Amino acid sequence: MGVISALGAILALMVPCPLRSGLLAGLLGSYLVLLAVGALVPRLNFYLHAACRGPSAQPWVALTFDDGPDPAITPLLLELLRREGVPATFFYIGEAAQRYPALVTEAAADGHLIANHSNHHGYAWAFASERQLLAEFEAANRVLSSILGHSPRFVRTPVGISRPGLDKVLHHLRLRNIAWDVRGLEGFHRDPERISAHIADRARNGSIILLHELYYGVARFDPQQVLRTTQLTIDRLRARGFSLVHLDQLLGQAEAQSWVGNWDSPSGIEALMAEEGRGEVASATSRASRA
Ligand SMILES: [Zn+2]
Repeated sequence: MGVISALGAILALMVPCPLRSGLLAGLLGSYLVLLAVGALVPRLNFYLHAACRGPSAQPWVALTFDDGPDPAITPLLLELLRREGVPATFFYIGEAAQRYPALVTEAAADGHLIANHSNHHGYAWAFASERQLLAEFEAANRVLSSILGHSPRFVRTPVGISRPGLDKVLHHLRLRNIAWDVRGLEGFHRDPERISAHIADRARNGSIILLHELYYGVARFDPQQVLRTTQLTIDRLRARGFSLVHLDQLLGQAEAQSWVGNWDSPSGIEALMAEEGRGEVASATSRASRA
């Protein structure tokens, strides 16, 4: 980003006028593409850090499921994971959790980690004010906390998108941002054999594997497809010698603790706005512009 700004300044000062406008337009285009790619590819860590995988010292991988809970899928999936003795992390949507709190309770009682996947799984927050951005993720935190009795520790944004100011909001909510390095792309591949083979081929030590219970608001899958995909994925990963572990175990104790801040201030929009006013929290926008 800084390089593009510097090039723009040099062009404005040194290049003859007719050539200058074309080159400046090209630079502006590159700048906008860079901003968009940074928002859509979490592993670039453009606006905030995203954990895509854990350390590679152990043959560990972690299964994560997005977009639940859902009464047609979740109970069957929990039964399968219970039978296989596999821990998972469920990135739940706040409004779905509010509709089906018993499913959240059941997943947590089985020892799975419950994490925040926004309140509505919409995308308006990506363009909204910082206040609305905070409200989207805080609402899901509030729903999950009221069911679980404690706040979630992990968050994954819908399709992993990011934006300026997101790191400040997630830091404020004490949520660690989790992406993935292997995903099933179930909506495209559909065939459980193909999905599980794709995952097993790409998995490495420390992989965070993204699967879905459904595509919330977009597509529902046959529950048997989800179950077959999960079963084959577990079987193939185990056949390759991987152990399926909890996400926090995968990330390691040191890293898991690093996102626990020292602040004791109450959460809430007012507290964040007060911090903003005092300038105590570095702006993600300014960090992104320095990157
Ligand atoms: Zn999602």
